Amino acid sequence: MLDPKFIRDNLEAIAIAAKNKRFEFDPKLFADLYEKRSKCIKETEELRNKRNEGSDAVKKAKSKEERELLVSQMRQMGPLLEEAEKNLREVEKEFEKLLLTVPSIASADTPLGASDADNVEIKKVGELPRFEFVPKDHIELSKNLGIIDFERGAAIAGSRSYFLMGAGAELERAIHSLALDLLKSRGYKQMSVPVLVRTSAMEGTGYLPGGADQAYYVEKDDMWLVGTSEVPLASYYQNEILDTAQLPAKVCAWSTCFRREAGAAGKDTKGLYRVHQFQKIEQVVICEPNVEKSDILHAELLKNAEDLLQLLELPYRVVQVCTGDLGQGQVKKNDIEAWMPSRNSYGETHSCSSFYDYQARRLKIRTRDENGKMQFCYTLNNTAVATPRVLIPLIENHQTKDGRIRIPKALQKYMGGAEYIG
Ligand code: AMP
Repeated sequence: MLDPKFIRDNLEAIAIAAKNKRFEFDPKLFADLYEKRSKCIKETEELRNKRNEGSDAVKKAKSKEERELLVSQMRQMGPLLEEAEKNLREVEKEFEKLLLTVPSIASADTPLGASDADNVEIKKVGELPRFEFVPKDHIELSKNLGIIDFERGAAIAGSRSYFLMGAGAELERAIHSLALDLLKSRGYKQMSVPVLVRTSAMEGTGYLPGGADQAYYVEKDDMWLVGTSEVPLASYYQNEILDTAQLPAKVCAWSTCFRREAGAAGKDTKGLYRVHQFQKIEQVVICEPNVEKSDILHAELLKNAEDLLQLLELPYRVVQVCTGDLGQGQVKKNDIEAWMPSRNSYGETHSCSSFYDYQARRLKIRTRDENGKMQFCYTLNNTAVATPRVLIPLIENHQTKDGRIRIPKALQKYMGGAEYIG
């Protein structure tokens, strides 16, 4: 969420930024509602002041007649104030609703573009594999090894579902253990978090109202299944005033993530790329409201993920995400894409985002600056690792001629010392 006054004073800039990000923003609608709300606030305050002055006057009245007159005048004001307060509540509600839809402005270094096709590659790391045989895709390899069952997944849970079995499930656990150990060694506090949350947590992190279609809603209980543990991790700090000594707060969580993938019909329907339920370790940072500090932490979050991919011995590239591929609140974003031989391309495995104060304003996470003035914090997040998607590059890049899968050195200790699956 942006500061309402900032929006009112920068309507044109926000309209352009929204267009670049492909979000709706109507400057006139905002300006009119802002004006209406200001009027209602003024009206209500004036009536409250008059009422207070009236009660003071009643106390000071010199005669019974004067007191009765003043009391009767105040009685007449009662319904007027009630009406003004009711109007204000209604306008505030409408205004809050509109405010939640206004996107943030992309950082100056974000490239202009309409979709992920316009993202800009900033680096490539690792050698692409050169197979001396016809490589198989992860579906065939895992079926032959008996480590993933898509048929039973579909029978039990519908399309985009799967079972990981035996060494497949062990591999998943090993990857998460490696990631959590790495983050612990770098000072990230591990949390175990709720994945069924209230609307306020989804709104606070920016997944509502815009992302309602993408999330599973549990109507009976008015709760939402999260698509990422960023939601509970950032919301953990809601309504808090954090001491600067507590900042930056660095946390991470392993969680199951649920996504409806509405709008992705017919896209990536085979295999592990786009599923409805997956396991992800997310890194979240809350820091002081300072762009320079936020940028340093953004680089740190990115490095954690890159180091993990290097430990998994996977070739990858990093892209700077363009304006048209940024989320509503994201100010800047880098995606990491690992090489996926069966797609003959890099595929997104990580997403590193800076929000500045956009989420903290919605969640009311604050701190005091050096002058003691209250400020909203900045927030950032990045995937540490997400399975099963990362199993695609892992299985496919490390396959051997005889259909086995080489286990990267860093994972072997989590797999009972095994060097191969199969
Ligand atoms: P996002 O929160 O959308 O930026 O996604 C972060 C990471 O989660 C992606 O880079 C993927 O590794 C993983 N991911 C997101 N959506 C899915 C999905 N539907 N199926 C599998 N993995 C996913």
